Amino acid sequence: MEGRYNMNYNTNSTSYDDRERCHFYYKVGVCRHGNKCSKKHIPPANSRSIVVLNMIAFQSDGTRMSDVDFDGYYEDVFIELCKFGKIKSFLITENGNDHLRGNVYALYDNVRSAKEARDSLNTRWYNEKPLYSDLTHIVDFNDAICRKYDVGSCDRGNECNFMHVRRPSPSLKSDLDRSQAKKWQSQGQN
Ligand SMILES: [Zn+2]
Ligand SMILES: [Zn+2]
Repeated sequence: MEGRYNMNYNTNSTSYDDRERCHFYYKVGVCRHGNKCSKKHIPPANSRSIVVLNMIAFQSDGTRMSDVDFDGYYEDVFIELCKFGKIKSFLITENGNDHLRGNVYALYDNVRSAKEARDSLNTRWYNEKPLYSDLTHIVDFNDAICRKYDVGSCDRGNECNFMHVRRPSPSLKSDLDRSQAKKWQSQGQN
């Protein structure tokens, strides 16, 4: 049987339980149906990855945020999330749809950091909005990223349920990577 999104399930290795699970919730951390989804969304008890929903205020009308403004947010949020532990991967999605617009994702190197980040963020506000964060089942963002968007050829627009990643300027990215490496190196020496 074909799934509702035309996903190709591997019927040889997929159990009934797997088919009951929401493919997108497990792979991308969110799905467009949210709590009303007909498939199962069961949060992980432990995970190294978190999502913060709609944290970056991209316009819903498609007006693109300037690169300078985006770099500012990226740096701000990255530095904040680094306070909870070492981040292996970090990204922000700029899909036009509500469930993926402005989401922040972080993959930590241990489950404790992810849990602390989630718990802390859930008590806080950003840009005059309360934050909402959750653990996700994601272990590798590569499985969740829309590759076509990366090369400018995703024609699914707001219907696309994979991550449309907005990347910061390469110089900011390398600065942040360097400063994080330095921070953990110096803490390791203490
Ligand atoms: Zn779902
Ligand atoms: Zn796409």
